[in-house]
This record gives sequence, C-alpha cells and structure tokens, in this order.
Amino acid sequence: MEQNHVKVLLIEDNPVQARLIQSLLAEASGPGIELETLDRLRTGLERVGRGGIDLVLLDLILPDGQGLETFLRFRAEAPDTPVVVLTGLDDLRIATKAVEGGAQDYLVKGQVSGAVLTRSIRYALQRAQARSGEWASPMFRLAQQQFLKAAQIMGLDDNLRQRLLFPQRSMVVSFPFRRDGYEHVETVFGYRVQHVLSMGPTKGGIRYHPEVDLGEVSALAMWMTWKCSLMHLPYGGAKGGVRIDPTWLSRQELQRLTRRFTSEIFTMIGPDKDIPAPDMGTDEQVMAWLMDTYSQQVGYGVPTVVTGKPVVLGGSLGRKEATGRGLVYMVEEAARHIGLGLPGSTAVVQGFGNVGSNAARFLTEDGVKLIAVSDASTGIYNSDGLSVDSLHAHLAQNRFLEGYPDGDAITNEELLELRCDILAPCALQNQITAENAARVDCRILAEGANGPTTLEADEILAEKGILILPDILANAGGVTVSYFEWVQGLQNLMWTLDEINDRLRAILSEAFQRTLARAERDNLDMRTAALIEGIDRVAQAKLKRGLFP
Ligand code: GLU
Repeated sequence: MEQNHVKVLLIEDNPVQARLIQSLLAEASGPGIELETLDRLRTGLERVGRGGIDLVLLDLILPDGQGLETFLRFRAEAPDTPVVVLTGLDDLRIATKAVEGGAQDYLVKGQVSGAVLTRSIRYALQRAQARSGEWASPMFRLAQQQFLKAAQIMGLDDNLRQRLLFPQRSMVVSFPFRRDGYEHVETVFGYRVQHVLSMGPTKGGIRYHPEVDLGEVSALAMWMTWKCSLMHLPYGGAKGGVRIDPTWLSRQELQRLTRRFTSEIFTMIGPDKDIPAPDMGTDEQVMAWLMDTYSQQVGYGVPTVVTGKPVVLGGSLGRKEATGRGLVYMVEEAARHIGLGLPGSTAVVQGFGNVGSNAARFLTEDGVKLIAVSDASTGIYNSDGLSVDSLHAHLAQNRFLEGYPDGDAITNEELLELRCDILAPCALQNQITAENAARVDCRILAEGANGPTTLEADEILAEKGILILPDILANAGGVTVSYFEWVQGLQNLMWTLDEINDRLRAILSEAFQRTLARAERDNLDMRTAALIEGIDRVAQAKLKRGLFP
C-alpha cells in the first residue's frame, strides 16, 4: 500500500447503498481512496484472494451470507485483510460482535458522512499496520511458541504463563538524527524492551538492522531472560534496536544516531537497571558512544551502564570473542557426549561477523576442518579446509567474502545442506525451516544466531538424530562475559584472560550438563530442556517475590 493510495473493496448487494458510499468517498477523499464494488461474499473473497486490496467494507446481509456468519466466513478465508463492517441500525449487536471477533470498526448505514467514512478507513489501516508490523513478527511468534510448548510440558502456572508471554516494559521511540548533509534529517524507530524485572537488572544487546521491530526485539528480550536464567546470571532479559541499515551510515552518522537513541532510552537504562551490550550491527565503538552519552547526562563516568565496550574504557578482556569462544566450548561438550573426536572433523559456519568468525577460528584451533563459511554476499566452500586468517585478509581488502579465491562460491541455502559434523548458523533467524530441515546433514547443530531454527524444523532434526545446541545455550558465552565485565566494573578490578576463560568454561559446561541431564531424564529435546531450565528458575523467583500489591 502506498502511503496516499488505498484500495478499498466494498461488498454490498444493495445498489442504492453502494452508490451512496461511492459518492461519499468521492466527495471526501479526492483521489486517495480507490473503490471497487462487488455484490456477493464469494466474489468478494475471490477478489481479495487475487491481492491488491488494502481494506474491505463488508455489508453483513448479503444473498450468500447472513449476519455475523458473513463476517466469520470472511475472517476465516481472508484473516489478514482489515475489515470495516457495514450495518443497519437494528443490527448493532451483530456489528459489535464482529468487532470483538477482529473487525477493525463498524459503520451504521445512513449515519455515515464522507469524513467519517474516510477517517474510519484510514484509522482501521493504521491499526492493522501497527498490529502486523510490530508485535506480530514471525520471530516473536517463534519465541512465544517455544515458550508455550515448554510451559505446557513443565505444567507452568497459568498466571505466570500469561505474564511471561509478553515483555513487562516496552519503549518505542521515533527520533531524528542528522545525516552528513547537515540539512538532511532522517527519522527512525527505536525500541528498548525489558521482558522480566524480577531477577535483577535487565540485560541484553542493541541491534541495528532494517528489520528490527517491536516483535523482533521482544522475542530477543524473551530469549535473553531464558539465557541469563539458564546460566544462573543475576539478570532478567532485555533487548533494544533501531530499524536502520547501519551499513548505509558514515561513522559520524552512526555516532549521532547512537547518541540520540541513547538519550531517548535514557530513563530505561542504568548500571543497576538495564545494561545494553552489542548485538547485530553494533560493536565496541557503539557501546563507547552509548556509555559516553549516558555519562554526559548524569555528569560522571559510568562504565557499568554498558558491556562489550572497548577494554581501554573498562571493557573486559575476552568479551569481544566470548560468544564464538563459548559456542566452541559447548561444541566440545557435545562432541564428547556423542563420541565425536574434534581433530579432523568438519564444520560449516553460516555468517562471518563477530560470532561466526570467532567460532570458526576457535573450531580450527581445536583441529576442526572448516569446509564452508558465508556472509551476506556469498558462501565459500573448500573440502580441503579454509584458512580463517586468509578469509580475514580478504575481508580487510574487500569488505565482503565475494570473490574469495581459495574455494568455490555457493549459496547460503546450499551451505546449510552440506554434509558436515558441526553446523553453526551464526547469521540471521529463521534459517532452518520445515522446507530445508530434512536436507540438513550434520551431527551437531550449534546455534550462534538467535532463533535460527523453527519449531517444525526442530522436530525433523530430532528425527534425524541431530544434537541441537539451542541458541540460549550455544551463544550464551557473550552475555556471560558481559556479566564478568559488569562485575569487574562494579568492583573496579580486572581479571586476567585466563581467569575469564576458565570461569566462562565452568559456567557453560555446568549449564550444558544440567540441560543434558534434564533432557535425558524427562525425555526432552535439548531446546525444550534448556528452556524449561531457564523458565523454571524465573518462575521460582517470581513466586518467592510474590505479587505487588
Ligand atoms: N547480544 C548478545 C546476546 O544476544 C549479548 C548480550 C549481552 O552481552 O548483554 O546474547
């Protein structure tokens, strides 16, 4: 739908009413709303099925549909199309029922002016868009489905289930920042979401990506809750993000964007309130600007307001590579469990950002042969093994992997289906689905990304006997070293890299063994076992704290 051009389908069998609505719209809206009219429910549904209709005005009394049943049939066959119901004065009860059942609004025939009609259409579209564009993201649906499945299996208290299905606090901001041409101002949407506030401060990264929305950030915040709880870290989950492609921006633009976003979410964050960290599209430098902006506002330096900042500003040794390192610690545990010797085994890593490239590096240090990697531009395959150093050297020159000479180009889809021992999706969500899961050919699936596998795919992978290291286990190394960074900052002391890595390994190994034990004891897959471990601790804490007031 273009902003100023809306295509409305009127389903109305009374020609006098149809003409009236046509003339009301013509007089009130000018060229903005285009109306098409059909006189049967069946033909109307067929028209919607062909696409291009933004909204339907639906008469409830038609030759082939009577009353509420007309609406319910429409809703069942065209669930995503916004509907405004047209009703007679004597049918108001039915119209109200239709609104309860999901119609955006109703209009009483004979009482509608052109202005009322157009306002109702525009507002209905706004509401439908806010609904589908924000909360109803596929990622949030996945996080909720995973949670509901685990909640059902563990018999979670109904009240807690309802509370935990949505985040406790969400902030949506719309804010401007200056582009490099000083006159040019861009307005973007940003989010900070806190899922659970019962476990201590909230914790989670900030993502800059063109697909960020409230639903995605909420899904990520929910996963952070389970991840922190599973690792026994004293945090609830949070996440933030800005809907923008950071690769378009100059360094100065990125800095202005970050500083303005920080000041927009200033009231949400703080060292004992909510502590951001890097995520997709953000890095140490972004954290440094965030920390500086926060410190400027309170009047003194507050390094503990963020983690994943540069070491010179109080960042922790080992934080940058912690997620990749943690993933490999988990792979080592999993390999021991299934009797796979890592030296000489093969790995495929999807994504070559911070997580993927470090995972690749530590895997090769364990003697694993890295046979394929990818980034947004291409996949690279070499059955003799790829050199992580030479991939980095190529990236330093060319920014993308495309054109890397020492291997064959493959697509990201092909890469996921390569036969290997360890497959590590470390890029985007929703990569392994019902469509390709049957062709995934690995022994261990280690999820460096958040949410790379759908629930349907989980079942297919389980049938194939693939051991899944779910995201909340496999990528928990990042937030665990974030916790170390925060603790070191609060105490003003620094640990050595060995101390950090030893503590990281101890926490991750214990969580892996605990999850495995639960999976084996209760006959669960690893994801459900990990989720139940996480949810259970949050549930216990919530019940102990009780309900205010
Ligand atoms: N963004 C990372 C994650 O998804 C790290 C979060 C943190 O360190 O707080 O786990």
